[in-house]
Amino acid sequence: MKIIVIGYSDYKEKDIIVNAISEDGPISFKVRGALNPNSAFVWLKTPLVTADVNWVENIRYRHQILKEAKLLSSPLVSDASFDTMVDIDFVMEIINKMFPDTEKHLLFHEIEKFLKADRSAELSRPFYQLIFLAKAIQAVGSGLEVDHCVFCDNKDDIVAFSFNEGGFICRSCLQPEMSIHLNPAQMKLVRYVFKTDSYFFDKDKFDGLKKENIKTVFINFNEYIKDGIGVYIEAIDKIINRL
Ligand SMILES: [Zn+2]
Repeated sequence: MKIIVIGYSDYKEKDIIVNAISEDGPISFKVRGALNPNSAFVWLKTPLVTADVNWVENIRYRHQILKEAKLLSSPLVSDASFDTMVDIDFVMEIINKMFPDTEKHLLFHEIEKFLKADRSAELSRPFYQLIFLAKAIQAVGSGLEVDHCVFCDNKDDIVAFSFNEGGFICRSCLQPEMSIHLNPAQMKLVRYVFKTDSYFFDKDKFDGLKKENIKTVFINFNEYIKDGIGVYIEAIDKIINRL
C-alpha cells in the first residue's frame, strides 16, 4: 500500500508508531527497532516520505506491525536545502492545523504533486506553495467563487474580489461598503490557483508575475483561514520573508 508519512511517536524500547495517510484514510503501524541507528527503516521517521508498505495483520496486537517497506521518494533525498525544509514545514502545518486526523488524507494526491513539481523556474516555488494552500482551502470546504459574481452569477464585468463576500463581484453588484482585497493581477492569480489541477508554472501565462502579488495573496489567504477556521499558518510568514 502506498503511504505518505506524516509523523511518528516513540513506543516501547526502540519501536515507533508511524502515522501516515493513504489515499483512503489514516494509517498507523508499529515499526520494530526503528530507533536503532542501524535499522533498515530509519527513513520512516522523515515527514512526507512516500513508501510502499506491507504489514503483518495480527488482531492480538493493538497496532499492525510493519513487515516490509520500500522507499518511493523522500523530499530530502535530492535537496536538503532550507527551502525544502520550509516546504515540509508548510505542508505539515497545513495538514495538522487545518485538518482533523480523519481528513488529512484528502490532501494525499496534492502532497504527491506538490513535492514532485519542478521548482527550477524563478518564482515557481512560492507559486506552487500558493496552489497547495488553495487546494487545502478547497478541501476543508472553504473554497472561493472565482468563476462568476457571487451575487448574480454574471461572468462578465468582474471588477472586484472580496474574501468577506466569498469571491468575485461584478460591476453592478459592487457596493461602496464592501471591502475589496485584490487588484486585477491578484484576482487572476487567485482564480488560477483555485482552478488548476496541476503544479506547472507556465511562464508565458504568468509573464510579469510579481513577488508583491504573490505576497498579497498569501497574506489574504492566511487572514481568510484565521477568520474562517481559526488557525494561523506560521510557515507562510517564513515564505513571505524569503520572497
Ligand atoms: Zn453581480
